[in-house]
Amino acid sequence: MRVPLLDLSEQYRTLVEPIHAEISEIFATQEFILGPKVRAFEAAIAAYCGVPHAIGVSSGTDALLAVLMALGIGPGDAVITTPFTFFATGGCIARVGAMPAFVDIDPVTYNISPLALEEYLESQCQERQDGSIVDSAGRTVRAVMPVHLFGLCCDMDPIIAIAQRFRLQVIEDAAQAIGAEYPGKNGTAQAGTMGLCGCFSFYPSKNLGAAGDAGLLICRDDTLAERLRICRQHGMEQRYFHGFIGGNFRLDEIQAAVLKVKLPHLDGWSAARRGVADVYREEFSRRGLGEHLTFPAEPYRAAGLTSHHIYHQYVVRTTNREGLLEHLTRREIGTAIYYPVGLHQQQCFRYLGYQEGDLPGTEGAAQETLALPIYPELTREAQVAVADAIQEFFAAPKAR
Ligand SMILES: *Cc1c(COP(=O)(O)O)cnc(C)c1O
Repeated sequence: MRVPLLDLSEQYRTLVEPIHAEISEIFATQEFILGPKVRAFEAAIAAYCGVPHAIGVSSGTDALLAVLMALGIGPGDAVITTPFTFFATGGCIARVGAMPAFVDIDPVTYNISPLALEEYLESQCQERQDGSIVDSAGRTVRAVMPVHLFGLCCDMDPIIAIAQRFRLQVIEDAAQAIGAEYPGKNGTAQAGTMGLCGCFSFYPSKNLGAAGDAGLLICRDDTLAERLRICRQHGMEQRYFHGFIGGNFRLDEIQAAVLKVKLPHLDGWSAARRGVADVYREEFSRRGLGEHLTFPAEPYRAAGLTSHHIYHQYVVRTTNREGLLEHLTRREIGTAIYYPVGLHQQQCFRYLGYQEGDLPGTEGAAQETLALPIYPELTREAQVAVADAIQEFFAAPKAR
């Protein structure tokens, strides 16, 4: 049985009519950029996240870039993040001229380790007289950028406490985690709402996907929100007067309209993904595959949240990843490796001077993790086919 990694055609079929109605309206009015559809979508997302401000932008990457630019982070600065993430996280830090400082992940959750973060700040950085934090190369450490990977929130309480202690801004890369919840000490909090600012991506394959590129920032701070709105139009506050350098980070009406049609379905889709994860766990456990595979961690499940994980990806871990990948490919089961190389080992970041073995948690995960098919409409029959194929692989003597 052929099982694709992702198939959103069924989802589209259920929404054809409202989506086409919206698009016809846009062509009728000829208003294509930052118009009423964008404003309506921004209001809907702000309400969904329970924050006062949402600023639609052209992509998740541009959301990250816009906040770094709006905060004036640049040459001479450093931003701490995880190396186990999509490239954009580290890429944006470097694009504004700052240095990405990579600290290792918690190998259980694959998210940035609060312990590694604290240890980096305590052992590699110092406090200046004015209270700012400087790294060993003399760069000012401005912010930490946690990434809620695969749809699971980072352990934000300690991250925020450490950031406060060292006076760092917290910019959440919530590109994979819209709607995911965290059981914080001040109550349940949603991804993107815990730091200074949260960044979302609506790349078509994300849980809330546009019909092209789109992204958004959320924040509580009025001044930052205003600055982000200005930043997305080249830093232009008054027409053709530019107070600072921004970019073209505008969101278009078609994307906003499609996303607004989809938003009311998001929680249902994420719940369906959790259901898929439960079926995998059940089918894998029944076959004794726990001996060979590490299933995704669910650290907040017991906290009784509505959405302890949104399962943007379902990622398992095995020491024979390449063998399993090859076997599943032969059985026409879609897989993907997120991510085969930590950012600290990317060629473009060689100038940062990281060596193999510097971030062992990330390097191990990059070698051993494999994403399996997951999407809301995935059937149990397909999941059984995946489980059978995995069982077949581990039953063969050469697999071990
Ligand atoms: C998808 C993604 C981005 C970038 O979003 P785009 O919309 O593709 O630009 C950034 N960070 C993470 C973790 C992502 O998964």
